[in-house]
Amino acid sequence: MKVYKFGGASVRNADGVRNLHKIIAEEQNLFIIVSAMGKTTNALERVFDGVRRADRDYALEQIAELRSAHAEIIDDLWHTSTHLERVDAFFTELETLVNETVYQPADAELLYDRIVAYGELVSTTIISEYLNKAGTQNRWIDMRQCMLTELRHKDAAVDLEASAKALKEELKKYGENIFIGQGFIGGAPDGTTTTLGREGSDYSAAVVANILDAESMAVWKDVDGVLNADPKIFPDAVQIVELNYLDTIELAYSGAQIIHPKTIKPLQNKNIPLYVRPFGDKRKPGTVIRNMSAPVDVPILIMKKDQVLMTIRSRDFSFVLEEKFASIFSLLEQYRVKVNLVHNSAVNLSLCVDNTWHIDEAIEALREAGFDVMKAADMELLTIRGYNDELWQKYAVGRRVFVRQSTQATVRIVRKKE
Ligand code: ASP
Ligand code: MG
Repeated sequence: MKVYKFGGASVRNADGVRNLHKIIAEEQNLFIIVSAMGKTTNALERVFDGVRRADRDYALEQIAELRSAHAEIIDDLWHTSTHLERVDAFFTELETLVNETVYQPADAELLYDRIVAYGELVSTTIISEYLNKAGTQNRWIDMRQCMLTELRHKDAAVDLEASAKALKEELKKYGENIFIGQGFIGGAPDGTTTTLGREGSDYSAAVVANILDAESMAVWKDVDGVLNADPKIFPDAVQIVELNYLDTIELAYSGAQIIHPKTIKPLQNKNIPLYVRPFGDKRKPGTVIRNMSAPVDVPILIMKKDQVLMTIRSRDFSFVLEEKFASIFSLLEQYRVKVNLVHNSAVNLSLCVDNTWHIDEAIEALREAGFDVMKAADMELLTIRGYNDELWQKYAVGRRVFVRQSTQATVRIVRKKE
């Protein structure tokens, strides 16, 4: 078995879906994980936002736009005006949900997951039906029943053992050997829909690969492979031919948009190679990620945007050390604040964190616990592995740099956004 993952950019239009078909046309024994088409998840986040603000019209407008964007893709694929019953039914379900929900802040995450999951449910339905029509027999899998997670919404951890049992039992029922399932979504023990965090489809694919003991996993992307920097930010980016698992985790955690940071563990545990391959040209080799690789001989630059720098100090000037660390981090965990860099002195703890939903509540709670907290927004975190003098001069000094942390090989810089 092989696992292929196609992201939203790859299947954003009918040409993308036709290209997916070309890529898989000669394959057998394949599990395909697909994300929502194009920017659908962002649009669904706006639907959620409409419900949250009690602006139902706005939410319904967003759904109507999504309905017609998907209808256009379907018409293009079928070469005639076509309705797919299951797709219609999903959009109707979503409208009903929006019409009937009275928003409760305590259920924000639960509702968010129910709403955003429709992106993947719809994309996989369209692609599965299209492939069947085009002669590639396949079976649509409902990952809400097979990717079993803990009971935690918006960022659920997968229960690997329970998922393995559920997924294997499900696949045994069918004669097909090509399967299509949703990335990003899962189901909690109480039957509610969960999601694995934005961009979580890579992680879904890796979990499936682990469960099915796949010979390999490939992520088909709109780049030639893994680059040493984001070419939109650093124009001289070059491709890296091979990487090992450890370096890849470090890069992904630092913010490299190669793959979701959680993706590597399930693959490493079963020694499954991961190929990052260009969606536009099947002949190009892309990048391979596996246990061992040749050392990377170019500096790697990774920018993580939308960061907040929190500086925490105890009000009575006592040291902010071990037992204080423990209470600070458990508070942050409770509010799901993701810490990307830790920097400490005797009385100060500086944390560079993702700008997420509950950050201000977390700061409030820290203040109540006796800390002074300063918050600097609009920050970015730049990580440079294998830095040299020139890069140091260019990025690690200057007025905008708030924190700089360096080891022999790596420098990490928290700086104000330009
Ligand atoms: N559709 C989801 C997102 O846009 C999951 C993914 O693309 O991996 O975040
Ligand atoms: Mg996506």
